[in-house]
Formats: sequence, structure tokens, C-alpha cells
Amino acid sequence: MIKHENTGRCLKCLQIINLYDGFNTRLKDWFIDLQSRHPEVHTSCAGRGMAEQESLLLKNATRAKWMKSAHNYNAALDLFVVIKGEKSIYPAWWFKEVLTKNLPDWITWYGQPGSKFFELPHVELKDWKVLITRGEIKLVSDIKIMA
Ligand SMILES: [Zn+2]
Ligand SMILES: [Zn+2]
Repeated sequence: MIKHENTGRCLKCLQIINLYDGFNTRLKDWFIDLQSRHPEVHTSCAGRGMAEQESLLLKNATRAKWMKSAHNYNAALDLFVVIKGEKSIYPAWWFKEVLTKNLPDWITWYGQPGSKFFELPHVELKDWKVLITRGEIKLVSDIKIMA
């Protein structure tokens, strides 16, 4: 079992990003660059298949139904940090001071003050719904269903 480590290129994070085929390259490259400069940042969820989305919905851990979340299109990441002496893995100051300085205009962060669906750890491709209609991003193929 691999664990998250502040190495600047965390293998556990890469495993999560590669869990389903075809994670969005632009978002992946952004995260890898951010982590190389801020080794404390990690991801807990990247792509998300149908079975996983529906089980989260049953547990009320998400509001989104299957195909209604950017995670279902390999186009979102949930972030957390591991900082020595910091009890929370979601310290508001980190998101405010570090994340906001590293957010390009093509990423939407749900922790933004006034966010429609407030969710501190969640970042996604801003135009993911447009990218679907253009066929540039595709539904995550659910390895658990196909197996
Ligand atoms: Zn990690
Ligand atoms: Zn999310």
C-alpha cells in the first residue's frame, strides 16, 4: 500500500490520477508542477467512475449524480495538504495563500468565496461542459462495471 509523501512527486497521488484511463493532461500537468513546488499538496480524488459516484451519492458524500460531476470526465481534482504541525488537511489559510496564487484562469476552484457549490478541496476545468460537447473530454470508463 503506497502512502502520500511530501517528496514533490507523490506516487500515491500519481496512482489516484491514473486510477482510470485518460485523466485530463492539462490538469494533471498543472498538479504535478504545483506539487513539485509545494510538496505538501496532494489529491484524494481525480477521475471517478459510475460505481464510485453512485456509492458516494448514497453516502451523501457528493451532491452530484453520475455524469453531473467533472470528476466523471477526468476533469477535476480534490486537493488536501500534509503540513507538519498543522492538524487540518484542509487549512483555509493554505487554500487562500497558496492555491489562489497558483490558479490559472482555466481552472475553477469551488472554495472561492461566493462559490455556487462551496467545496474547499475541489478544482476542475472551467470549461468542462463545453469540452464534452466538443468531444475533447470523455466519460470515465468504469473498470469495475466492465470487469
Ligand atoms: Zn500524495
Ligand atoms: Zn471534487
